[in-house]
Amino acid sequence: MAINTLIPAEKALEIVLKDVRPIGDETLKLKHASNRILSTDLASLRTQPPFDASAMDGYAVKQSDVASLPTDLKVAGEAKAGTPYAGSLENGEAVRIFTGAVVPENADTIIIQENTLAENGYVKVLEGTPKGKFIRLAGLDFTEGEVLLHASDKLTPNRLALAASMNHAQVSVYRQSKAALLSTGDELVLPGEATQPGQIIASNTFGIAASVENCGSQIIDLGIAVDTRDALRAKIIEAITRDVDVIITTGGASVGDHDLVLPVAQEIGFEFEITKIAMRPGKPFLFGRFHHKGKTIYLTGLAGNPVSSLVAFNVFVKPLLQTLSGQPLQMLNRLPAVLGCDLPQNDERAEYMRATLVTSEEGKRIATPFTKQDSSMLANLVRADCLVYREVKASVAKQGDACEIVLIS
Ligand code: AMP
Ligand code: MG
Repeated sequence: MAINTLIPAEKALEIVLKDVRPIGDETLKLKHASNRILSTDLASLRTQPPFDASAMDGYAVKQSDVASLPTDLKVAGEAKAGTPYAGSLENGEAVRIFTGAVVPENADTIIIQENTLAENGYVKVLEGTPKGKFIRLAGLDFTEGEVLLHASDKLTPNRLALAASMNHAQVSVYRQSKAALLSTGDELVLPGEATQPGQIIASNTFGIAASVENCGSQIIDLGIAVDTRDALRAKIIEAITRDVDVIITTGGASVGDHDLVLPVAQEIGFEFEITKIAMRPGKPFLFGRFHHKGKTIYLTGLAGNPVSSLVAFNVFVKPLLQTLSGQPLQMLNRLPAVLGCDLPQNDERAEYMRATLVTSEEGKRIATPFTKQDSSMLANLVRADCLVYREVKASVAKQGDACEIVLIS
């Protein structure tokens, strides 16, 4: 396929993800593994609880000794969490026991403290407990060898606690891919800097950096490059030297005289398969690969217009980063809704239209695209609840017709 053809978005995603694999794994101490993705299944190294344990504070007794109540039993000793009772329970005896302690040999019943009176080395049992109640049998939670966590599981707080309980001090997780972010454009200044006539604030990379982190990747911020070949080349080479996996540029990805990302990256050695997508917003999109020192470095060149760059990031770059970092893929899910207004026939580019979303009294989701959809307009991206998806050449649609939406979180 010639690289300057308009490529359908689905086809482009296939090209981007072709042969992409996780970049590798590493072993981390559990306390450093929060939110990381397991690269292997995890079998428990322990049975939990490892012994029959009391679930209450009270007395461990034999059920046969508390058949008729009240009754007095001799307190033979104590079992607390971490220190078991050394002996074994004899007839007529009770062992003072606390939550988490090993249930003494021969005991089968826990009398809760509230149902007893302690007196002079004896305990008066006032009310009984069914046999086995308040005893957590060994293996109640899980047993040694049981596979409880799986490769591709994200180490959420609950899973981290379980891995610890399974006695794993360290875990094998996928390495995080490294993404370099570069804004390009003579007109750009950072928020808070003094502006000259004709300048605007560089906003794209702030949104993209936050998304990159959400995909479990690390960021190297290369700042802003002016629209010269030298400036761009220096930044791209800096990214390569810093061993990144993906270079994400914004701006300069189109066909204007000052759009230099494609030719400069080609000179460096990147080979491109995509330069534009049949999609709005997000038409200019460069995708190239460079094989360097045994690894593949990807370059994703996003458009300068903020909405284009964010939409194309979500459609193409996010799945790439997630795959490289072993993260589960979060594709843009399309949900059914109905249109809140008429729409004209669509052209040869699939469209994501910023829209409001309300739920009607009958429970229908009604999506109404804004009248103005210019890809420079960030405020209405933030005002939008969803994007209405329109396929290539979608025919005229009327208010109330079925449509597909992508929710904006
Ligand atoms: P370009 O893709 O470089 O032709 O830029 C398209 C439009 O996006 C122009 O109006 C640029 O000023 C604007 N633009 C480029 N980069 C950014 C950025 N990082 N943040 C906000 N707007 C940008
Ligand atoms: Mg530009």
